[in-house]
Formats: sequence, structure tokens, C-alpha cells
Amino acid sequence: MHELIRVDHLTFKYPVQKSPVISDINLKISQGQFVVIAGATGSGKTTLMNHFKKELTPNGHRQGQVLINQKPINELSKLESAKTIGYVGQDPTVQPIMSTVIDELAFSLENVGEPSAEIERRIAELANYLGLDQLLHKSIDALSGGQLQLVNLASVLILRPKVILLDEPAAQLDPLSTQHFFEVLNRVHEELGITIVLTEHNLDGVLSLADRLILLQNQGISFDGRPRNGLETMTADPKLKYFVPQVSQVFLKKDRHFPDLPISVAEGQRLI
Ligand code: ADP
Repeated sequence: MHELIRVDHLTFKYPVQKSPVISDINLKISQGQFVVIAGATGSGKTTLMNHFKKELTPNGHRQGQVLINQKPINELSKLESAKTIGYVGQDPTVQPIMSTVIDELAFSLENVGEPSAEIERRIAELANYLGLDQLLHKSIDALSGGQLQLVNLASVLILRPKVILLDEPAAQLDPLSTQHFFEVLNRVHEELGITIVLTEHNLDGVLSLADRLILLQNQGISFDGRPRNGLETMTADPKLKYFVPQVSQVFLKKDRHFPDLPISVAEGQRLI
């Protein structure tokens, strides 16, 4: 498997803090994975993920290094960075720069120097794929939070990145928009093969899509593996057990059976 992100002995401390937020983290993320980074508030999820995007790398005291496509992250050119790693943040309103959806999508491509015929072609193709055709000529201000977050996803997707980082992308969305957003993200992962790295403290809707869960705790990684096994680690931890999704909502992609439960559940059936 092609290694996209590699973190070697990463320790990071913000200047104002006494102790590091993350300490001696080692991690490899391969092409095609859907990774959820979970942990309590303040455990360092955002800090770790911001290290995967050159423009977001925080200022502070750092040891160790991060490699993207086997290249130290600080050696990536602006163009390489934009074309390799996309980013969608928590607040849907922060990202857009232009006043209409179509201009926002075109802006992404103009930034990387695509010719205008190619820009038009790619916008039409992607809007169709994501079901955004009706929104293309709408004003950004007229969109709901859910629509806006889809436009944000589209404006990074249009650059055809290898990996998309998402920092609690549904934090400000209502339950229906959240469900729709994650459905779209799942398609993007499964059909387009884009690697997904997502931080989330509400694991309810997202864990069923992931094939890898990384838990941050006490400055380090306390679990890294299949979501199902991670849930066991979380359940056993008094601080993390509240993050475990209600069992009735869990559909684990790689392992839908819960042999430890007294009932036997057919694949895909709801556990209620
Ligand atoms: P999480 O995403 O898991 O909630 P963060 O990475 O946002 O965690 O934060 C980890 C710790 O670092 C917290 O204690 C937070 O207050 C602190 N922190 C985050 N950003 C900064 C910053 N820019 N300057 C100083 N401290 C920060």
C-alpha cells in the first residue's frame, strides 16, 4: 500500500503551554484508508491533524517529522500541497471566499493554474457527481450549513487530492445534514478512492464508515486499529466511554457481528 502520510516521533508543544500536546507520535496512513482520529476534547486531535497540512502546521516547539508522499512536509510546494492534501474545517462559513458556488469552485482551480475550459468541464462533472447542479448559481450566503459544507468538500475535491483532512466537519450541522454529508464522504472514499482522515468526538455517524480508528489519550496514541476493537478500549476507559456510539447506531464496515451480544444480528439489520 502506498504510504501517503508518515509521522515519525512527533512531539509538539504550544509556546504558552508547559507540557507537549502530543508526544512521540508514530503513524503511517496508506492510500485508500478511511481514518477517524478520536479522543476527548483537548486530547490533540486538531493539533495532530494540522501537522498533515503544511499551511496549517502550528507554531511551537516541535521534534520529529511529518512526511507526505515520502517528502518532508516543509519541502512541499504550494501547488503540491494543494493537489495532494485537501482540508475541510469545522465551521462551514469560514472557508468560502467567493460569493457564488460556481465561482468558489472555479477559484480553487484557478489557484492551481487550470485553463478555463478544463475548469468548466470539471465543475460540471463534479456538480453532477455530488448533486450540486441546482446550487451552482446560488449565492454562498443563501446556503444552509449542510449545503455549504458540501460546497467546501467540493472545492477541495475538485483539485483531485490524494487525501482529504476533515476536522469535525459535522460539528455545526443538524442531524439530517450530518447524515447526508457522511454519505457523500463515504461515496467519495469508496468510489473515488480518496483517503480520508477525519477528527470527530461524536462517533455516532462516522465510525461505521471508517476502517481505522486512532484514539488519542495522554499525549499519545492509546489505540490504533479496527473500529470494533477500539470501541472495546473506549468502553473500558472512564473518560472515553461516553464517546462510544449507541450500539443501535453502530454498523461497523469491516465487522458487523457482535459475538459478545446475546442476540444474533443479521448483516445490515438494526440492533435495537
Ligand atoms: P482536540 O482537537 O482534541 O480538542 P486540540 O488539538 O484542539 O485538541 O488542543 C489540544 C490542547 O492544545 C488543548 O489543551 C488546547 O487548549 C491547546 N491548544 C490548541 N490550540 C492552541 C494554540 N493555538 N495555542 C495554545 N494552545 C493551544
